[in-house]
Amino acid sequence: MPSGGIQRVLVLGGGSAGFIAALTLKRRLPQLEVTVLRSPDIGVIGVGEGTTVAFPRHLFDQLKLKRKQFYEEAQPTWKQGLRFLWGRRPEFYYPFATEYEQQFPELSRNLGFYCADDPSYTGLVSAAMAHGKAFALRKDGHPEIHNFHAFHIENKKLVAWLENVSRNLGVEVREGTARVEAGPGGIAALVTEKGVRVTADLYVDASGFRSELLGRALAEPFLSYDDTLFCDRAVIGGWERKDEPIKPYTLAETMDAGWCWQIEHESWINRGYVYSSKFISDEAARQEFLTKNPKVSNEPRVVKFRTGRYARNWVGNVVGIGNAVGFVEPLEATSLQVICVESITLADSLADSLCAPTPTLIELYNRFNAQAWDDIRDFLAIHYKFNTRLDTPFWRACRADVALHGAEAMVNFYRENGPSVLCRQLLHASNSFGAHGYLSLLVGQDVPHAKKYEATSKELESWRARLKSWALEAQRAMDVKQCLEAIRKPGMKWD
Ligand SMILES: Cc1cc2nc3c(=O)[nH]c(=O)nc-3n(C[C@H](O)[C@H](O)[C@H](O)COP(=O)(O)OP(=O)(O)OC[C@H]3O[C@@H](n4cnc5c(N)ncnc54)[C@H](O)[C@@H]3O)c2cc1C
Repeated sequence: MPSGGIQRVLVLGGGSAGFIAALTLKRRLPQLEVTVLRSPDIGVIGVGEGTTVAFPRHLFDQLKLKRKQFYEEAQPTWKQGLRFLWGRRPEFYYPFATEYEQQFPELSRNLGFYCADDPSYTGLVSAAMAHGKAFALRKDGHPEIHNFHAFHIENKKLVAWLENVSRNLGVEVREGTARVEAGPGGIAALVTEKGVRVTADLYVDASGFRSELLGRALAEPFLSYDDTLFCDRAVIGGWERKDEPIKPYTLAETMDAGWCWQIEHESWINRGYVYSSKFISDEAARQEFLTKNPKVSNEPRVVKFRTGRYARNWVGNVVGIGNAVGFVEPLEATSLQVICVESITLADSLADSLCAPTPTLIELYNRFNAQAWDDIRDFLAIHYKFNTRLDTPFWRACRADVALHGAEAMVNFYRENGPSVLCRQLLHASNSFGAHGYLSLLVGQDVPHAKKYEATSKELESWRARLKSWALEAQRAMDVKQCLEAIRKPGMKWD
């Protein structure tokens, strides 16, 4: 690190990772000179269209970016969680609102013990999802956009909005395909194909799967997650929306050798079959995808990936962000969340160290962000281990062989104690899924446990009354289309 502290940051890559990193740094540390160098020839990955709640919380609550500009330019729709066609039940919802952690005064146990037979509604947000609704209607005719929402956004529109915001904040954007000049601290300079040499005090590697700096130049070891996550490809296609309602969730549907997402854009429906090439060929996956989705109107494209992460995010004068440092398949659409976390923890580390980070701070950064990646692998493990819907070679292998890693203690606890919220004590404080996430998936998939609870008739009566009032409230709510129309009307209060 330079003796005068870090003043100039060069971000390699202009995808969502590069721009989220650049604008986060510039917003939190306006004195930094931040440049994005991106290759027009390589372009961006062009997939990554669902978010979690971490995305709006980072950009709007923490960084205070303008929501109005975001809605106008990125044109998102809202997602309140996932609907799973998964496990032995016909379906179940995983809402982002922490419904499984609720406790009601008239019920002696926590919620999971009452909804075990039918977990369709576990609160207002899942009831809204089940009714195809987004938000409650306010008196002024606008939607009450609660804090448990995420988005569906087309990747290219997202990147265009991020670039605009970054430029407005003072980030410089340069074009060029870079090669690396190595130096004592790691990287000495990046040199474009035209011979322009660009230097900085800190290099952010946001070069996507190419991982030009962390992986290629510094040869940081890659730790595979393939003992847990067997999928390594996706075939993607979609069609123009006609009269299909815009669903307020991402659909995750079990397929022969993986699963298929449905992501809802205002005028486009995006489907993708994530599969394991060890269990199905590209052509057979394409056929299964097209049979499942006969409306697909474009030529489906195949994207290959490997799941895992580099051992460290921050090595010498390089910090990796996004696909350049790790990738976990998109079952919970978590990559943008990780990018936000990696970016804000980098900005906090620089701010806290007065831009002169110490070795212990860098080690802490690495430990924290590695844990964030591993948490996602662990959470996804229970999706694969307990999905009993299909009896295909892929799903049999998942049930037999998926390694649970950090989720093992949670599963053991659940098997002995049922859906008790006390399981939250097994998770560390920054685990983004929490007890609610684990219980949604364990109860939703009907994983057997030893503590079935027989509710009293009084308890059952009040539970049914709650279900009824959630359903009534959900029916009165606005659907996504109505919400989109309403926010475009004058008088919408944004911030
Ligand atoms: C099938 C699939 C589905 C996904 N779904 C989701 C999802 O639903 N939600 C989610 O959050 N994420 C999802 N992702 C992950 C998603 O790709 C990332 O969230 C996100 O797009 C970040 O990409 P990136 O910026 O790291 O990489 P990219 O978009 O690949 O950007 C890399 C940038 O680096 C530049 N670059 C590379 N090499 C050089 C060089 N030598 N010189 C100059 N520039 C260079 C490129 O031009 C580009 O600008 C999905 C990924 C896959 C594969």
